[in-house]
Amino acid sequence: MKKLLLFVILVSCTIVLTAQHDLIIPRNLLPNYESGIRSTTGAPGPKYWQNHADYSIDVELIADTRTVKGKETILYYNESPDTLKELVLALYQNVLNKDAKRVRALPKEILHDNTVNIEHLSIDKALVDFENKTSRTSTNLIIELDKPILPGAKVEIEAHWNYQMIKGLQFRTGDYGNGVVFVGYFYPKVAVYDDVDGWDKKDYNLLHEFYSDFNSYDVRITAPAEYIVSATGRLQNSKDILLPEFEKRFQQALKSEKVVHIVDSLDLQKGRVTKPGEKHTWHYKAPLAPDFAFSPCKDALWDGSTVKLKSKDVFVDAVYKKSSWDFFQVAEVAAGAIKYMSEGFPGVDYPYTDMTIINAGAAMEFPMMVNDPSVSSERSLHSLTVHEVAHTYFPFYIGTNERKYAWMDEAWANVAPVFYFESKDWETDYIPYKLERYYRIAGTQTELPIMTLTNYLEYYPAYRHATYSKPSYGLLFLRDLLGEEVFEERLKKYFDNWGFKHPIPYDFFYNFNPDNDPVVNWFYRKFYFETCYADLSVVKEDGKLKVVNKGGMPLAFEIHLIGEGGARTQQSMPAQVWMETDEIPLEVKGSVKKVIIKNQWDLDVNMDDNVLTF
Ligand SMILES: [Zn+2]
Repeated sequence: MKKLLLFVILVSCTIVLTAQHDLIIPRNLLPNYESGIRSTTGAPGPKYWQNHADYSIDVELIADTRTVKGKETILYYNESPDTLKELVLALYQNVLNKDAKRVRALPKEILHDNTVNIEHLSIDKALVDFENKTSRTSTNLIIELDKPILPGAKVEIEAHWNYQMIKGLQFRTGDYGNGVVFVGYFYPKVAVYDDVDGWDKKDYNLLHEFYSDFNSYDVRITAPAEYIVSATGRLQNSKDILLPEFEKRFQQALKSEKVVHIVDSLDLQKGRVTKPGEKHTWHYKAPLAPDFAFSPCKDALWDGSTVKLKSKDVFVDAVYKKSSWDFFQVAEVAAGAIKYMSEGFPGVDYPYTDMTIINAGAAMEFPMMVNDPSVSSERSLHSLTVHEVAHTYFPFYIGTNERKYAWMDEAWANVAPVFYFESKDWETDYIPYKLERYYRIAGTQTELPIMTLTNYLEYYPAYRHATYSKPSYGLLFLRDLLGEEVFEERLKKYFDNWGFKHPIPYDFFYNFNPDNDPVVNWFYRKFYFETCYADLSVVKEDGKLKVVNKGGMPLAFEIHLIGEGGARTQQSMPAQVWMETDEIPLEVKGSVKKVIIKNQWDLDVNMDDNVLTF
């Protein structure tokens, strides 16, 4: 075989002006970094602050009218240096008002004029004057305060409210009509007040997700006795509610690493699971969580087990109907996912004590609760479960603002299954499936820069591309650029820096590039701030070979040469070869029959021009 030689001619990069590759902070955010609230080291600044609240809630599900009725006392703590003259309460269910701002059309005749009825609202015992001191946006109630909340002070808010779920309508929450009810976004919740925007007054529009402070929750949920009630946090009074046989199995599951069938299908034939009485009140506590959800389920199976981690035991359970074809595996898959995420990727102990997966139908994460549909394949069951459980880390641990920067959590949740399948050595169609979704939008007019604020992305394909598809590759490429070891070290640092806090994209960028390396800043600018897509090609012009970067993406790649008799040679090129040019000349010696340009993830909108045959 004849030897093949490959020479890659790189443009000299001796004069890289590092100033060209600084991370540019938008004008409105400069004060946040200059004042010491945030910092360019990747960690929060010395003056970083965030507000929080203690929620004590009594809520009842009146099943036959699909009514949720509650009373709450909120202690809200102002840790900011600002005097708060107004207070914003999010009333998310008002997204189903006739005149609400929504990304989806709904038949008006089934909607309410005003979904959330506030029966009582007081602040520090003084009734709120609705007529003169409140205003509304689509899903917010803005209260002008008689007495401003001073820095370091707290207020007590008391609210009584109710709303009726709409029959047949489920958006992430609702009555699924088969005895499964998922109740989320159900209580008047103090919006986030932060150093970046002040009050978060963005409306919930059924698409863009959430932004939450880290609060404490003490919640009593009353439901008809034939329901078992799962919720965020840990059940406090199982022995008052469950019949002794089920209480025994529940206690077993709290210790067992093997799945315990707390309620199985034989039990359902025999009759009830809870003690005599018409209703029961289930008491849950979550001492630190960004939100609270609960799910009453009737005639449902209940599996549970405990994952033992270095720092804690985690109770993992699944609740589903007997007719579910796949959920009998979910408690075990979710436990495996928690173990994997704690020890593998991201390699940080799961931050909470509980995780419940309800087979309702939404593919939606809540803190310590997931509302998932049944899916069509084994691979989907694993990838969906891993994705939703990964949200416990992002955004329920690293508390990002999904209403402005949804990619900051979805990208991580999207790549978690990639690493999970890798760790199991499973060949799956997960990556081809993700590639296919990426190709639909990449390089089209619908592609907008990842840094486009999420609340500006109302067109679903544009939102999907900028939030899920492209940013997932951003993380994989950043790992390639930094090297696995450095990437993992900085990922752990990210949790140290921003666990239970509110990083914004610039904090993420600094965290993963604390040395302000111009190569990494260049990568950030190209990948996150510009539209660029994966499209390399190899061409021969005037007898000269070159690789052309048609899509402008900072893409690492491999050059493969195939010669006579199957001789092969290959060379890997890092992404930074594209820093100063979009064309790289190649010189080959020997009898080359074929040149192939590819990358590790086979990411390229047009593979046809990646191959040249002579
Ligand atoms: Zn997600």
